[in-house]
Amino acid sequence: MRQSTIGVWAGEEGPKDNGSSHLSIVARISFDYPSADEWADVALGLRPGHIYSRNSNPTVNVFEEKVRWLEEAEAATSFASGMAAISNTLGALLRPGDRVVSITDTYGGTHRIFTEFLPQMGISVELYDPIDEDSLERAIARGCRLVYLESPTNPTLKIVDLQKLADAAHTVGALVVTDNTVATPINQNPLKLGSDLVVHSASKFLGGHGDALGGAIAGSTELVTRVFRYREINGAALDPFAAFLLARGIRTLELRVARQNENALAVARFLESHRAVDRVFYPGLESHPNHDTAAKQMRGFGGMLSFTIRDTAGRGVTAFLDRLRLARKAASLGHVETMAGTPATTSHVECTAAQRAAMGIPDTLVRYSVGIENVADLIEDLQRALN
Ligand SMILES: *Cc1c(COP(=O)(O)O)cnc(C)c1O
Repeated sequence: MRQSTIGVWAGEEGPKDNGSSHLSIVARISFDYPSADEWADVALGLRPGHIYSRNSNPTVNVFEEKVRWLEEAEAATSFASGMAAISNTLGALLRPGDRVVSITDTYGGTHRIFTEFLPQMGISVELYDPIDEDSLERAIARGCRLVYLESPTNPTLKIVDLQKLADAAHTVGALVVTDNTVATPINQNPLKLGSDLVVHSASKFLGGHGDALGGAIAGSTELVTRVFRYREINGAALDPFAAFLLARGIRTLELRVARQNENALAVARFLESHRAVDRVFYPGLESHPNHDTAAKQMRGFGGMLSFTIRDTAGRGVTAFLDRLRLARKAASLGHVETMAGTPATTSHVECTAAQRAAMGIPDTLVRYSVGIENVADLIEDLQRALN
């Protein structure tokens, strides 16, 4: 099946009540069986079924199946949020004494895990600018347990060559985990580019409506099972109601992302031509330093972009944001409506101003997550606010 069909049909054989044609929310913690023997068989894994919703739940399984198919993976599992997916994956795969190599520009919460929480557990983390591919490759070649990647990065849309770094990692026996939240499985499949596991915040494009938090991972049965075993005990399970909303969102994922890809490119080209705009960061622009790598590994360039505005008075960014009418001033991205903000209040609110500066995130940067509106309306809105 192709992706738009997968979004609609994958996993849909899941639970239905009273002959209903559609997925039910199984709002139950535990599941009972007609006989103690059957219960024991399911509990011991001798036959399929559910015991307790921290471990598994039929509605949650439908969401997991959709992610598994979209990433063309052997297995997938889910979490209460994107950060739960990331922290549980790292928690399950790393041991004291391990070394992790990653990039300076991961999502703000991930950056905090790398700079604060993993070092507390005796795990060392080395972070490199994604643009500095040589240093990254040399650091990987020195040997490590895990390479953690994100492309495009949030908020400056840097691109790393996923296949090249996965090859470098596998040469030294390291695992590769890639956060595919910003690209979405519609535009990019890291597992096909050498990654061993892909992680998602489903709260963004997958759900797409900003009404449910969730996370997911996909990869080999062996690796996903290791992380699942950790999650079922550590407790970051996805709620069935959130899973229902996320599965409903995925039914329109391909349509939404196709529109967002188109809208974002048109908005990026408009911004590039406006005299009040200094720089535009979007991998679909020929002016992007890694446009060729992006074009090689992505089928579309995504719905998020960022730009800096000429801000001589020092008030430009907030004044500009306040004048936008068709953009929610709110954290998050990938929803049906356009959202705009600064990294200091969105992706990198967890970081200090000094850390943001070190990551090359200027104060005049605006992150703009393009929705599914008519792009002419968005461009008129930007034009008025910039003027
Ligand atoms: C939002 C986001 C996360 C965290 O996801 P939550 O669902 O908010 O916990 C992780 N990675 C990226 C790239 C994100 O944008």
